[in-house]
Amino acid sequence: MNPTDLVRAVQANRAGADEMFAGLKACSFDGIGITRASYSEEESRAHKVMADYAGRLGLEVTTDPAANTCMTLPGRDRRAPRIVIGSHLDSVKQGGNFDGAAGVVAGLLAVEALQRAGITPPCDIAVLGIRAEESAWFNVSYIGSRAALGVLSVEAMATQRVDTGRSLSRHIAAAGGDPARIAAGDAWMTTENVRAFLELHIEQGPILDREGLAVGIVTGIPGNFRHPEARVIGEYGHVGLLRGYRHDAMLAAAELAVALDATWQEWERQGRSMAVTIGQFFTDPELHALTKVPGELRFSLDIRSCDPAALKELEALLHAKAQEIAARRGVRFEFGRRTSAAPGVIDPGIRGDFERIANAAGIVHRRLESPASHDAAAFAAAGIPTGMLFVRNANGSHNPAEAMEIDDFLMATGILAAWLAEMQP
Ligand SMILES: [Zn+2]
Repeated sequence: MNPTDLVRAVQANRAGADEMFAGLKACSFDGIGITRASYSEEESRAHKVMADYAGRLGLEVTTDPAANTCMTLPGRDRRAPRIVIGSHLDSVKQGGNFDGAAGVVAGLLAVEALQRAGITPPCDIAVLGIRAEESAWFNVSYIGSRAALGVLSVEAMATQRVDTGRSLSRHIAAAGGDPARIAAGDAWMTTENVRAFLELHIEQGPILDREGLAVGIVTGIPGNFRHPEARVIGEYGHVGLLRGYRHDAMLAAAELAVALDATWQEWERQGRSMAVTIGQFFTDPELHALTKVPGELRFSLDIRSCDPAALKELEALLHAKAQEIAARRGVRFEFGRRTSAAPGVIDPGIRGDFERIANAAGIVHRRLESPASHDAAAFAAAGIPTGMLFVRNANGSHNPAEAMEIDDFLMATGILAAWLAEMQP
């Protein structure tokens, strides 16, 4: 079968895509957007929507200790390392229906296309509905993926969900998982039993939309280091205090923010990979006032890059700059808890295959670096060959206005299906 046949087979199954996306929306519409909090009822219902569809295809449906859902099409050699296609089924609060979920729907449609074409793959193909990718809920990234890979830290298990205050451990147990096995570092997916990990995801930036391209072939996924609860401690003072006597925590933090942005601008000019996000920046509402010099400012910090060496350099730069500002302004930076994730290296062979298939099927595409974190990075960091596709999506992501066209989605899914159909033992 040539690649175009598989792309056409996927395109012929628009009804399957519509059915799954409608099911996902129905179980998690919050009145404004989609809310599938990590380890919530809504997230579990989304897993059930996928599992029910997989069951009708005759796939084997199992769950792992993190309550990830694994839906497997048996291959000719059941002992051979399997292919895993997956993404996350949770969402941010009032997010969109496609972020993450599109990758799971794509996996099932690709497998269904193989079945319809009468192809039995040489090894198992597992479609993975992944738990808890969105770090908005536990301030930890890739929870489900890392748990499956046996690398979720014990500290992570104790973090509390921001809305419920209950620990990750308790949430995993409530969703039917087994937190003790995760804490023990049991790896359910390894380089020995997974041959490759593939993820399809909506593009979260505007590049494909602006350039009129349906599909992006990802070249790298950023790693990051984060400080969810950083603080600047200065001294509260009266509005009448002269400048030279102030220890203004807000201005010190603002100065650091502007300095990081200046570094980013400079690196962008040089074509170096990085991004800085300060998603939270606030004074204490109990103590702040219009006529008071702020004595404390709290902020969050997410610094990312696709280049591991650049992450080290940025961290050194951050601390040097903070020290300089602290000394000059008489304040203290406390960065607090630190989390990190390694950059995801994309397998050049898989990337080349995707490009060749897209060209053969006449699908317009371009290469691009992912600006955001994805589960694929966790699999790549574990040493599993990884490939990733982006689908054009207008209006950005993490909002209810996400606007992926199903036609674009089916084309990208067709590339996955064609790749699976070509697979040799
Ligand atoms: Zn996502």
